[in-house]
Parts: sequence; structure tokens; C-alpha cells
Amino acid sequence: MSFQSLGLSDALLKAISKKGYETPSPIQQKAIPPVLEGRDVLASAQTGTGKTAGFTLPLLHLLSENQSPKFRVIRALILTPTRELAAQVHESVKDYSKFLDVKSTVIFGGVNQNPQVNRLRQGVDVLIATPGRLLDLQNQKLLSLKHVEVFVLDEADRMLDMGFLRDIERVMKLIPAKRQNLMFSATFSKDIRKLANGILNNPVQVEATPENSTVDAISQKVYRVAKNKKTGLIIKLISEGHWEQVLVFTRTKHGANKLTKKMISAGISAAAIHGNKSQGARTKALAGFKNGSIRVLVATDIAARGLDIPLLPHVVNFELPNISEDYVHRIGRTGRAGANGQAVSLVSADETSYLKNIEKLIGLNIEVEIVEGFEPDPNASTEPIKPGQNRQRRHSKKTNSSGRRKNNKNKRNYSKQRNDKRH
Ligand code: ADP
Ligand code: MG
Repeated sequence: MSFQSLGLSDALLKAISKKGYETPSPIQQKAIPPVLEGRDVLASAQTGTGKTAGFTLPLLHLLSENQSPKFRVIRALILTPTRELAAQVHESVKDYSKFLDVKSTVIFGGVNQNPQVNRLRQGVDVLIATPGRLLDLQNQKLLSLKHVEVFVLDEADRMLDMGFLRDIERVMKLIPAKRQNLMFSATFSKDIRKLANGILNNPVQVEATPENSTVDAISQKVYRVAKNKKTGLIIKLISEGHWEQVLVFTRTKHGANKLTKKMISAGISAAAIHGNKSQGARTKALAGFKNGSIRVLVATDIAARGLDIPLLPHVVNFELPNISEDYVHRIGRTGRAGANGQAVSLVSADETSYLKNIEKLIGLNIEVEIVEGFEPDPNASTEPIKPGQNRQRRHSKKTNSSGRRKNNKNKRNYSKQRNDKRH
């Protein structure tokens, strides 16, 4: 299937080819046609599967088909949970509307509102917003949502996780009752369905690449290691392997900060990204990571979810998540959109049960390796650590290493994804 056959306008096709996309991803193939028909759509697909274009392309097509009156009014509203995501979606909207007469802007909190208000005054067709700043500017009568024709809730699961339900309900009261609604989410939970029932009108429900079907496209490896040797091991892997762009997950914010400091002392440029960091620091870290000036980004699950960091070659679990699904989300950051990726997990004795649960979930035994000098601690307890607890044991004994290596360079190919379901 091609983008042409989806019926998108020439101006959009030109923008798409400029982005270098060849074929629509499964979720795009499924979501674009019903959106173009004007239907309400509830779509779910894993992070990194191209959901943004799944709603942005048909939305821009619809907007440019019926031009607005003499002056520009907000005809499409896209709500996202975080500032980073809002900025990312805005980048996509700008890219795809390059050859269209459509203006867009983004508003989010944590920064001065005046530049945002000035851009709104100049007139926009598409507004991307986080709920807080949107309601704030609306209360100040600095924007009107009375002409919204299409309402998009992006990363809906994360919206709920972050407690935006009330804000979403407030926003719903400000937009016309007659409108098209689109809801995109990485997961389909009971709460998402409930929210969808309240917002969507007779929706078409589409789903692609259920959670666990894509993990076999990623080469995965576990290093069994003593807890107190993890930092040394990760530094060795990154420097000796010449890994250039590495996303590292830690369980806690404190752990992220500590590891970042150690990396920097070892001469590896690194930055931490988590909820306690200021907006400026997070944007700077992300930009540095994307442009290559920061080699290692250390993140917690919450901070990283939904972030678009394309072509990520290495993901490291410095600690395994205690929720197995988070493992799938984490390693989904690598090998996205056709690139190869490697996911590595450093596993100490107390994480043994987490590893078992993950292997059960993905239906796969992950290859294990032990590096000489960084052996696991044979006396350490396999009792799982409670979330938030950081127990350290310090008995170490040498064991023999086994240096098996395997290179699984399976390309993730959109046309080959399995288990697609239509509801
Ligand atoms: P999601 O919202 O599902 O997490 P995004 O919309 O952020 O995913 O897209 C993930 C990455 O895939 C982005 O870098 C995007 O540019 C890229 N992408 C999207 N659609 C395609 C496509 N059809 N072909 C190739 N790359 C794509
Ligand atoms: Mg997204």
C-alpha cells in the first residue's frame, strides 16, 4: 500500500516524500481512511509506530479541502500530555503542511505566555496544546475554541496516567458539540475505553502491532552482573563498543542523576531527563541527544514515554522495570521506523524474578552474557527489591565468563508486522 492510494493530496504527498517515508505504517494504513471519511477514530499502536502522521496527514487533508473563512480560526485542536510531545507534534504538523496554506502553533506551560499569545493573534488553523496552558489562555479570553472542527487526543493513555481527565472534560465543554474526534493511544485499557465512550461518536476502532509482537525485531541481550558493578559495566560497554547514541533507563530519578554524574566523570557526555528537571533542562538534554552532542541520555520510564527519538541504536536497561510491559515500551525505542537496534539489560540477582516475568511476556528467553571482571554476585539474594528501595550487597566472587555473541540484525519492516487486528 502506498500513501497515494490512501487518497492524500499532492501537497501532502510531496511533504511525505520529503520526509523520506516510503510506505504508510500499519496504524497509518488503518487510521487514515476513516479519518478522511470524517469518522471518529479510536486508534492504538505501540510507541514509535507513526501515530502522529496517522492523524496529522488526514487532518491536514481535510482542513485544506475546505478552506476557512476570511480570517483564520482554530479549526483543529490537538491535545498532548507534555510539552515535549506538544513540541514534537507541532514539528510534524509544520513538516507535513509545508506545501499547504495551513498555519499552526503550539502552546504549553512553563514558559512565558506572551510569544504564544502573539502567534495566536496572527491566526492559526491548527493548535497543539497541553491542557493546562490551553485552559489558562482560554480563561484569559486569549483564544477561542468555538470553531474547532476536529479534536485530537494524542497519547491518551499517558494523559490519563498524568491525571488530565478533569482538564480534558473542561476542554470538551469549550469546543462545539458537532465535531470530529480522534483518540490515539499506545495502549487500550479499560479507562481508555471509558474515556473514548465519553468523547467519541460511533468511532471506528483500529489497532496495529499489539504490544509484544515487535520485540523479536530487536536484538536483545542480558548481562548478569553484580549490582555494585553495573556502573563499571555500562561504562565499559559504551566506551569499548563505541556506542554513540544510548538511551539508558533507570528505575528512579535519583538513580538517573547518580549514573549521569558517573558517566560524566568517566568522560562520557551524558544528561538525565526526568520529572524533577526543569523544562529548559529537559529540552536542552533532548536536543543535545538528538544532535549528537550528548552521547547518553539517562531517563526514567515516565520521562521517556512518547518521546520521539528516531533511529536509536542502543537502549540499556540499567535496572529492569518491575512492570514487564514497561520493558516492551522501553525497548520499543530502538529499531523504530526501520532502523536496527540493540536492547541490553543489566540484571543483578534481585532482578531475577523481573527477568522471568519479562521473558514470559515476550515469549522468548533472552540471551545471557557475563563479562569478565563484572560477574554476578553468587551470594546476593534473589529476593526482589521493592520499588523505590535500593539495597546493595557487597560479596563478590569470581566466576568464569562466557562470551557468547549473537547478532540479530532483523530489520523491522512495516509491511511485515504480524498480528494486526481490526475491530
Ligand atoms: P508514535 O506517536 O506512534 O510513538 P511517531 O509518530 O512519533 O510515533 O513516529 C515515530 C517515528 O517514525 C518518527 O520519527 C516518524 O518520523 C517516523 N515515521 C512515521 N511514519 C513513518 C513512515 N510511514 N515511514 C517511515 N517513518 C515513519
Ligand atoms: Mg505519539
